Formats: sequence, C-alpha cells, structure tokens
Amino acid sequence: MSEVGCCIAGGGPAGMMLGLLLARQGVEVMVLEKHGDFLRDFRGDTVHPSTLRLLDELGLADEFLQLPHQEVTRLGVTTDDGTYVLADFGRLPGKFSFLAFVPQWDFLDFLADRARRLPNFHLLMNAEAVGLLREDGQVIGARYRIPDGGEQEVRAPLTVAADGRNSVLRVDAGSRLREFGAPMDVLWFRLSKGPEESSPSFGGAGRITRGRMLVRLDRGDYWQCAYLVPKGGYAALQEAGLESFRTDLARLLPDGAALEALRSWDDVRVLSVRVDRLPRWHQPGLLFIGDAAHAMSPIGGVGINLAVQDAAAAARLLAAPLRSGVVPPRRLGRVRLRRLLPTVVTQLVQRQIQTRMVSRILAGDRPIGTPRLLRLLDRHPVLQGLPARAIGMGVLPEHAARPLPAGAGPRP
Ligand SMILES: Cc1cc2nc3c(=O)[nH]c(=O)nc-3n(C[C@H](O)[C@H](O)[C@H](O)COP(=O)(O)OP(=O)(O)OC[C@H]3O[C@@H](n4cnc5c(N)ncnc54)[C@H](O)[C@@H]3O)c2cc1C
Repeated sequence: MSEVGCCIAGGGPAGMMLGLLLARQGVEVMVLEKHGDFLRDFRGDTVHPSTLRLLDELGLADEFLQLPHQEVTRLGVTTDDGTYVLADFGRLPGKFSFLAFVPQWDFLDFLADRARRLPNFHLLMNAEAVGLLREDGQVIGARYRIPDGGEQEVRAPLTVAADGRNSVLRVDAGSRLREFGAPMDVLWFRLSKGPEESSPSFGGAGRITRGRMLVRLDRGDYWQCAYLVPKGGYAALQEAGLESFRTDLARLLPDGAALEALRSWDDVRVLSVRVDRLPRWHQPGLLFIGDAAHAMSPIGGVGINLAVQDAAAAARLLAAPLRSGVVPPRRLGRVRLRRLLPTVVTQLVQRQIQTRMVSRILAGDRPIGTPRLLRLLDRHPVLQGLPARAIGMGVLPEHAARPLPAGAGPRP
C-alpha cells in the first residue's frame, strides 16, 4: 500500500494535465493508467488555442510545438452550392491563432515526460483502477490491478476519477449520469491524399449533402475522416458492403480523391456518440473530471480541451488544500461550479446542432440547402472570428495556477 496527496485514475488528457499541474504545485501525485502506453486508436487530436495558452503559461508551448503537427487556421464547409468558411482562427487575438493537430499519444507522452521530471509525480502504467477505498463514508483512495501483481491499494486524501466516459470509479461510486442522447455515430478512418490535394485551402473541411455528412482533417500526408451515420447505422452500412460505402464516399470527395487506403472494415473505427454529464461531480474524498464527468459530442472537437480545462480548474482550486492534506467537500464542489457553465453551454450548442442540422441532413428526406449561418459568415468575414473563438477558446478558459510560493513543498 502506498500513500500520496492525490491519486488520479486515468492518464488521458484530464488525468495527465491534472497530475502535471498538481505536481508543479508541490502535491505528491500518483496517476494510474490501465494501458502500457499512450499509443491507442485514434481518439481525437485537436489541441485548441485555450490548451496552447495554458501550455504557454507553463513555459511548455514552444517545446510542444516542436512536435510534428499541423496548424489549421480555417475550417470550411462545402455544400451543394459551394464552399464556405465556418471559422477563421486567424482572427483570434494572441499568440495561438490556429488549431494544432497533434496525435493524442504524442500529446500525452509530452505531458508524461514533463511531469516525470518532477520528483513528486508518479505515473504507474499498466495499473487499472478497479474500485474505491472507503472509510467512515469517505473515499480514502483506490484499488488497482497490475499485471501478475494482483490487487494493490493507494491511499490519498483525494482520489480523482479521470478514467473517461466508461469510468469504473463512477460505477463504484454509484454516481448516475444524466444522458441527453445523440442522433448519430461517427466512423473514423484515414484516406490518402490525391496528388492534386497537396495544398488544401482548409485544414479542416466538412462536406454536407442530402443524407450524408463527412469531415476531413488535413494530417499532412493523409486525411483523417469522420463520416456521420444515424445512431446504430453502421450495421446497415456494413451489410450494404464496403464497395457501396466507397462509392458513396467518392460522391462526397473532390475528383481524384484516393480511396485505396480503405481496404476493409478493419480500417474503420466507430465512435458511439454520447452526450451526458453527472449532476454531482464529487463525493467526500472523490472528484470526477473530463469525460468521466461529462461525455461530449464530437461536434467542434472540444472533448480534449474541456478535459484539460477541468484539470486546470481543479489544480487551481485544490492544490493549496491538498498541500495541507485536507480537502473539504465544499472545495470539491467549487470545481463543478467553475466548470458547469462551459460544460452546459457547450453541450447545449452541440445538442442544438445535432437536432437542427445533423438529424435533418442524415434523415435524407429533403434536399439540403446551404445553412443560413454559413451564408451570413460568408457575407461578413469579420464574423468568422466568433465560431473560431467559441471552438478555440470556449467558455471561461482557464489559466495555469500561480507558481508555488517559496518554501512551500510536498507534504512529508
Ligand atoms: C474516436 C474519437 C475521436 C475523438 N475526436 C476528438 C477530437 O477530434 N477532438 C477532441 O477534442 N476530442 C475528441 N474526442 C473526445 C476526446 O478524446 C475525449 O473527450 C478526451 O480524450 C477526454 O479526456 P479524458 O482524459 O477525460 O478521458 P480519456 O481520454 O478517455 O482518458 C481516460 C484514460 O483513462 C484510462 N483508463 C480508463 N479506465 C481506467 C481504469 N479503470 N484505470 C486506469 N486507467 C483507466 C484510459 O486508458 C485513458 O487513458 C474523440 C473521442 C473518440 C473516442
């Protein structure tokens, strides 16, 4: 059994960022990550200006941007009538007027590497949290499993569940989600770039037409694609066969687009879209952040960034009480209070877009004109900065906590 100031279950964007920030603030931290590395399926790789600004405040942005990445300054949508700019990040004030596309495993490796340089940060890979430790109605740590090592325990005044949308600790805590549903699922796959596509006008582009929706993100030498299907619609697509899917895609892509990379259904990953959140994000000794507290729709690609912002708010509000070894439940409640507005507003906008646009397009029962919003943005380019601000910075973007006061350090 070990004892730390804060035990974090889950080494995703939320858990790794919280671990790094708390360790910088002098808290003894242990992060439990069930996988042996961060190299997993595609899980989103958009690092938004709000996260870049946070990294900059930590003195890490320049090094981070040394990693291979693409910088996207404009997002566009092509309808049957033409191509329109949806968001222009170049209009954002500040140093980071772009989205950085960095594979999520590189992002997590980077955070892990910088955090490991701090003596009070401990990352345990291949350690799967399996349940909570409780004493007198209070969570006092977590149980975890390591390969061949059976079950171990770690005690801490605070346990943070950052173990994602299928959080095991959430189930053990008996916390029930409020679910909002979603009309679609997303198929993720890569397509090679055709020779004539080497200099696209947009780093990210949507294509909508009657019954179909496709988003392509420029990843240098290939396109990362997201194809939307009605909820549960993947089975029907598979039944119709890969060839019919490829024919369908060809209709949505510019002439000359290469489809050879799509050789079998194994090349396709399915994201079952969920929008949900916990009514309460804490219990005595326990806090939920990131997807464990709220799964987001992929619209806007904001999941990683919300998770990171939760971590920043939690670190700012909790570092001092954690250093003293006592975290009053009211203090935990303040993390949710701070992060509730960004979560609710983002989910509200996503749900509006899902019902007003995505459902209608995917229903395919009537022709799809160009949405009025796109025409408006096209007529008044200055307005293209507004969606960029909403996507790139979000509501109530966080700042890094101030540096640790001289003399303050980890609890002995
Ligand atoms: C296919 C797909 C595409 C996406 N695209 C985007 C995108 O383009 N942009 C975007 O911003 N967001 C995207 N998202 C959402 C984004 O990935 C999540 O919102 C974000 O990663 C949430 O971060 P998190 O740290 O809360 O949870 P997660 O990223 O889910 O991390 C949870 C971590 O906990 C670990 N874990 C789970 N259970 C345990 C356990 N019991 N014990 C120990 N460790 C455990 C997991 O291995 C994982 O490392 C996408 C998601 C998917 C699935």
